Amino acid sequence: MIILMKDQPSDEALAHISALLRSAQITEPLRPIPTGKGMACCLGAKHPGAEVYAELSAIPAVERIYTVSTPYQLASRRFQEEKSVIQIGNPATSQVVALGADKPVIMAGPCAVENAQQLRTVAREAVRAGATMLRGGAFKPRSSPYSFQGLGVPGLELLAQAREETGLPIITEVMEPGMVDVVAEYADMLQIGTRNMQNFPLLKAVGRAGKPVLLKRGFSATIEEWLLSAEYILSEGNPNVVLCERGVRSFDPQTRNLLDLSCIPLLNMLTHLPVVVDPSHSTGRRELVVPMAHAAIAAGADGLLVDVHHQPDQALCDGDQAIMPEELQRLIQGVQAIRESLLSASMIVA
Ligand code: PEP
Ligand code: MN
Repeated sequence: MIILMKDQPSDEALAHISALLRSAQITEPLRPIPTGKGMACCLGAKHPGAEVYAELSAIPAVERIYTVSTPYQLASRRFQEEKSVIQIGNPATSQVVALGADKPVIMAGPCAVENAQQLRTVAREAVRAGATMLRGGAFKPRSSPYSFQGLGVPGLELLAQAREETGLPIITEVMEPGMVDVVAEYADMLQIGTRNMQNFPLLKAVGRAGKPVLLKRGFSATIEEWLLSAEYILSEGNPNVVLCERGVRSFDPQTRNLLDLSCIPLLNMLTHLPVVVDPSHSTGRRELVVPMAHAAIAAGADGLLVDVHHQPDQALCDGDQAIMPEELQRLIQGVQAIRESLLSASMIVA
């Protein structure tokens, strides 16, 4: 149950609500959370019963009460009917991109930031192809400790330089709670990788960081677990969360993961949070990236996260799944055509 307040609630209003809830054996301290709809107190699955519900509804400071039957509450479509539109970027340093609106957002760039020349080349090509954000990992979660681990903070500096040159907002991964403030100083959007989807201290930390967050699906996570991870971020007061499908573990080694495109229309029913698809980490194969990107847009995705490299054979990370800049252009042209035809046939649900 969610109690949406009219404004920032006064102490008296909160005390009144708490007393009523206590009379129904709900004793948790009330914590007003900023949401896309205003300040809200979230009680999880608890319900005080019809009588107390009616009394709560009559309190002048209460705007509305939502009974939400799913364990994720703030993330649910029941709480917020209209899709969230997330603004990414700072007008002082970059363009500002709206994710969840009519135009799909294309986040493109290398899997890992390798050096100044590589990032500058790929960033320039990404802008030319029509990308709207620049991706690049400075902290890389690698399966092997002997693989390239990323440049760290110097990689963040290179991303900031590329943003200055291209105007593209940047998205980059943060792997540990202690690094959130440092990464958030540079990034326009924080990425939580698949391996960290249930790193709860990290989710809480990005919930307090004041930057939009892209939450990747854990490679064996259910949709409900994924939405509950999003709820961790939302319940810290950060309403700017985007979900990213990147494939789940499967039995067939032909592809790196199994891209679950059915989750897009499903999530569009369950949640108001925008959904992005990563056709690179899901398939692991460059030749599958463009068709699956197009399929994702056809299924209703709000954007794409795509690995691009000008010399994929020499990439320090995930070269097999990186497309060349020319292919990115083709990918984006197709995305625009598919989106326009869906819009004109009124096939897109806001
Ligand atoms: C990435 O996008 O750089 C990445 C590491 O992806 P994932 O967490 O999905 O493996
Ligand atoms: Mn990668």
